[in-house]
Amino acid sequence: MKKALLYQKVKNKFVKCTACKQFCLIGDGNTGICGVRQNISGDLYLLVYGKAVAANIDPIEKKPLFHFLPGTKVFSIGTIGCNFGCSFCQNWDISQAAKEFKKKLSKEKRLKDLKLEVTRYGYDLPPEAIVSFCEEKKIPSIAYTYNEPAIFFEYTYDTAILASKAGIRNVYVSNGYASHDAIDKITPYLDAINIDLKSFSDDFYKKTCKARLQPVLDNIKYYHKKGVWVEVTTLVIPGENDSKKELTQIAEFILSVSPSIPWHVSSFSPAYKMKDKMTTSEKKIREAYKIGKEVGLKYVYGGNIWGEDLQSTYCPACNNTLIKRDWGFSKLQTLKRGVCDRCAGRIDGVWA
Ligand code: SF4
Repeated sequence: MKKALLYQKVKNKFVKCTACKQFCLIGDGNTGICGVRQNISGDLYLLVYGKAVAANIDPIEKKPLFHFLPGTKVFSIGTIGCNFGCSFCQNWDISQAAKEFKKKLSKEKRLKDLKLEVTRYGYDLPPEAIVSFCEEKKIPSIAYTYNEPAIFFEYTYDTAILASKAGIRNVYVSNGYASHDAIDKITPYLDAINIDLKSFSDDFYKKTCKARLQPVLDNIKYYHKKGVWVEVTTLVIPGENDSKKELTQIAEFILSVSPSIPWHVSSFSPAYKMKDKMTTSEKKIREAYKIGKEVGLKYVYGGNIWGEDLQSTYCPACNNTLIKRDWGFSKLQTLKRGVCDRCAGRIDGVWA
């Protein structure tokens, strides 16, 4: 547990959390929506500081980041808790855990025990241990992923500073709801981000994710403007966000920020409260891929699906195959220092 960096004191021992755009107003003893930031006697604390619930070495392509150090490993960590409540969450067992504890303890009128419950979950993994491990194993980047990094901001921030000093890069995998205060603080140490753009409908965000659309759109622009390498992912859910109109709106929005932002259109698998839905068909992913290309995005990828043609990187100028991939793994690289080996065209991304 650690005192939060991002909050303001309000009267009567209330605090306003400023880590994400939910901007929760939290009374003494209570937590915000995410369930892991608790007001204790008028100060805000991050309960999951140094408490990882998942830690793995992954290929960077799994985040997915396709234009960021391809073919390298990334050390991935996450905690419990989330500021969204997506009905289709693929990591719901960890993302929604803190809310479940909170619900149970509130019913039993034992909310004061939340700190105990939450800190029992996960294992000790302080920032120093993460960075030492990456140095020892020569892992070039750390991903704050599995759940939303903005809600465990202070843990990511301290780790990212240490990592940067050691020459290790930092990446977020995010729902795009961090506050501008959080973004301004982390960007000196943040090298790349993959942001979910889950839909282009505010109704979808409200009903299905318990959030709003506009803050996510604003943050995609903001991270890009601040010079962080941005890639965007849309999980295509049958009957929910997969109309031609909506996929075109998403692609056109990304294009308006930059045609160089890679767009990952990923196949959905039934999960959590959407177990009744079908898996997304390959046909639909191919349709979304085509929409992205026709709109004018330079890099579009199909995700959670087999298909080298959908996952490989091509030179936007001469169509030369630069990186072959399948199921997210880079198989062959002919890209040299971000330049096409056939036409010498520059390929957008972070390559070294
Ligand atoms: S991180 Fe977001 S959801 Fe969590 S307490 Fe702060 S404002 Fe609320």
